Amino acid sequence: MKKIQMVDLKSQYDFIKEEVADQMAQVLETSSFVNGPMVQAFQQDLEAYLNVKHVIPCANGTDALQIALMGLQLEPGDEVITSDFTFAATVEVISLLKLKPVLVDVDPQTFNIDPKAIEKAITLKTKAIIPVHLFGQCAAMDSILEISKKYQLAVVEDNAQGIGATHTFADGTKAKTGTMGHVSATSFFPSKNLGAYGDGGALFTNDDELAHFIRGIVNHGMYTRYYHDVVGVNSRLDALQAAVLKVKLQYLDFYNERRKEAASRYNEYFNNHEQLVLPFRAMGCDSHVFHQYTLRVLHADRDALVQHLNQHQIPCGVYYPVPLHAQKAYLDPNVDPAAFPVTNQLVKEVISLPMHSELTTDQIEYIATTLLQFFN
Ligand SMILES: *Cc1c(COP(=O)(O)O)cnc(C)c1O
Repeated sequence: MKKIQMVDLKSQYDFIKEEVADQMAQVLETSSFVNGPMVQAFQQDLEAYLNVKHVIPCANGTDALQIALMGLQLEPGDEVITSDFTFAATVEVISLLKLKPVLVDVDPQTFNIDPKAIEKAITLKTKAIIPVHLFGQCAAMDSILEISKKYQLAVVEDNAQGIGATHTFADGTKAKTGTMGHVSATSFFPSKNLGAYGDGGALFTNDDELAHFIRGIVNHGMYTRYYHDVVGVNSRLDALQAAVLKVKLQYLDFYNERRKEAASRYNEYFNNHEQLVLPFRAMGCDSHVFHQYTLRVLHADRDALVQHLNQHQIPCGVYYPVPLHAQKAYLDPNVDPAAFPVTNQLVKEVISLPMHSELTTDQIEYIATTLLQFFN
């Protein structure tokens, strides 16, 4: 059996080697390393795939989130509501821009931001909500968009883990994650569902004016060469990464299907185990692309299970071990830790198993049976 990894980028690369080499050679031949035709081609392919008017490439997912907030032209002190249970980048950019992060609790089944908690946290200073499609599952967008309309708040989707997922609205219409809010941010970090061979990111929006504004922000606030209208940043996707992404985008649906298959296989082993809670799919198969396959371990020592797996050469992850409200950098004396009962519980129970498009059935069997042995 092949060595088990959380993500197996080498095996994935072996399947697409020639295509990647060919696209990369094109970049080298044209020697257009930043922006240029390859970045534009990838951008257009992604716009078509997502059915969104504008994809604006940038350097990484954290930049994309920061630039999305800059695009909304918020004032220092404005409040931005986001999830207590996410990667730190989501809240980091809020603080960096001198906005006020307002963390709220999540839903115990989906691990995604709880719309009821959002509504409770809204004040006169609230300007935006950042739902995160955590672990690849679309957040409760019907309710979130309804709240945003009711209170006139911007919605910035953090789609770093959700690319390729499709949301079905209550009325039956469908949309890809990242295309429902006012603007969204995604990451092409190598381990993400659509990953480059280095850093990369992008923003998506259907708003022409906002897209124009953001295209200037990523380029030093420049709309006419050497005329700087706003304070911007330098955040670019390089062309070699775009070449990789252009190849891999063609396989994104295939990769995501493989992840869903692996998740279903895991489920078969863990079904009915009274100490394991399986990942919950709130809105059918298309709404979850399994960036992570995350179990809740009940009434057991989760960290001992991590050790047990590691001893059997099975890597695993704890995403995330500390709620954001309890992180040193984001401690707020006015915030009561008891206001996050779900996150406080999840951080003790969650474990993410190896998940990628190249997992084999014998690897899954070995992982699952080894995990189950822990409880015997
Ligand atoms: C990966 C990730 C980011 C940051 O992306 P980078 O490209 O690493 O900067 C932001 N939010 C979430 C939820 C992520 O998983």
